[in-house]
Formats: sequence, structure tokens, C-alpha cells
Amino acid sequence: MAKFCSNCGKEIEDKATICVHCGSKVSTLEEQNEQDLIDKSAKNSLIFGIVSLLTCSIPVLGFIMSVIGICYSTKGLKSEKYKGMAIGGIILSILFLIISLIMFIILIAIILYFSKQSVG
Ligand SMILES: [Zn+2]
Repeated sequence: MAKFCSNCGKEIEDKATICVHCGSKVSTLEEQNEQDLIDKSAKNSLIFGIVSLLTCSIPVLGFIMSVIGICYSTKGLKSEKYKGMAIGGIILSILFLIISLIMFIILIAIILYFSKQSVG
């Protein structure tokens, strides 16, 4: 399978790392895969950020979703194309991580309050 230079578009050897026509650096398949993974992570971080927004009232689930969102966005921040998505994802995730923690504390407080009431 022939490979084409991303800079000038001319055909180049499969194993070439530098384009013989224009001299620009050609990314290898591994680099391309890594880049795809980073781009995907950026998108996922935004998705999980939104999911954590929707699930923040569900104590444990909201917490897990926002942690996953943060994990994805740390990788996704390396993406040039989708950096905005990763930033959005990390902001949403951290925000709703805090909110879900507060919700969890409130829930515990309510449980403690009512358990004390029923005893006393
Ligand atoms: Zn080229």
C-alpha cells in the first residue's frame, strides 16, 4: 500500500520517515495511531464531562464518570485538533467531581441525621 506525504501529497515509500519530495517529516503508523488515540481521548473527555453533569446527583456513578473524564482529558490535552474539547471535558469533570462529592457528603449527613432521629 502506498503512502502519501501529508504536506505535499506526493507518493512516498511506506517506511519513509522524511518525504523525498519536500523534505517534511512523515509520521509513522505508530505516531498516527498515538495521535488518533489522543484525539479520541479529547472527545471522550468531553463526553464523560457531560455524562458527569447528568449523573452528578447519583453519588457513586457521578464520581466515577468525572474521574474517567479527568483521566481522558489529561491525555486529550496533547491533542492539537481537539484541545478545546479536552479543556471543556476537564473543566466539566472537575466541577462535577466536586459537586458529586458535596452531594455525597450531604447524603451521608442526611442518613446520619435520620438515623440519629430514629434512635433518639
Ligand atoms: Zn512531501
